[in-house]
Amino acid sequence: MKKMLIMGPPGAGKGTQAESIIKYYNIPHISTGDMFRAAISNKTEIGMLAKKYIDAGNLVPDEVTVGIVKERLSKPDCKNGFLLDGFPRDIHQAEMFSDMLKELGISIDLVLNIHVDHEKLVNRIIGRRICPKCGRTYHITYNKPLKEGICDDCGTSLIQRKDDNVDTVKNRLEVYSHQTEPLINYYKDLVVNIDGDRDVDVIFEDIKKVIGE
Ligand code: ADP
Ligand code: AMP
Repeated sequence: MKKMLIMGPPGAGKGTQAESIIKYYNIPHISTGDMFRAAISNKTEIGMLAKKYIDAGNLVPDEVTVGIVKERLSKPDCKNGFLLDGFPRDIHQAEMFSDMLKELGISIDLVLNIHVDHEKLVNRIIGRRICPKCGRTYHITYNKPLKEGICDDCGTSLIQRKDDNVDTVKNRLEVYSHQTEPLINYYKDLVVNIDGDRDVDVIFEDIKKVIGE
């Protein structure tokens, strides 16, 4: 059971749980958001194209997104499992994903759906800080680094994502409700709901029980 999707609204804790899941199960974390942010900081063609959509909190067009996922899933390190985070993001992407999986001869075993009430998400997102070097996620109140503003793992200065501001967050939550949330029903046979409004470690213990050894 190790070819998995992790779903939930922005700020639900997908990236945070993904950090623990991929270490424990030794599988790659494939986050379309992380891939786009890397492309933007490397100023690649995909990065330039994606930037205006991400800054506004809208979805990047499917032609770009589906291509990068397919390329990544085709790599040998995905053979024994992976955790896909942030994709698919709407029903159309899910349908394209289904064709892609058939072509690659892969099937998804499990969809983890992390649930947190929307009123709590804004605080989580506005207080999020990330390490631009190793990608680790922190929060200024709920998940502080040992030294303020510095990554515990690699000593790099933490940054705030450009799209983590009050205006963009509202749109991202709306995009989630209208476009992404219907996927929970689309994947209903594979979905396991996880209460994301608990301690990070408690949630991870639950996730381990769901995934198994
Ligand atoms: P997502 O990947 O779903 O957008 P993140 O994992 O980046 O969400 O988490 C969003 C913010 O909330 C981060 O600042 C993170 O440190 C914080 N966070 C994550 N899980 C929890 C939790 N269980 N309780 C409180 N804060 C959390
Ligand atoms: P995330 O890191 O998952 O919060 O994603 C940040 C932003 O990247 C989103 O608001 C979108 O603009 C873009 N993005 C990430 N994944 C996708 C996707 N599957 N389809 C379209 N846009 C995406």
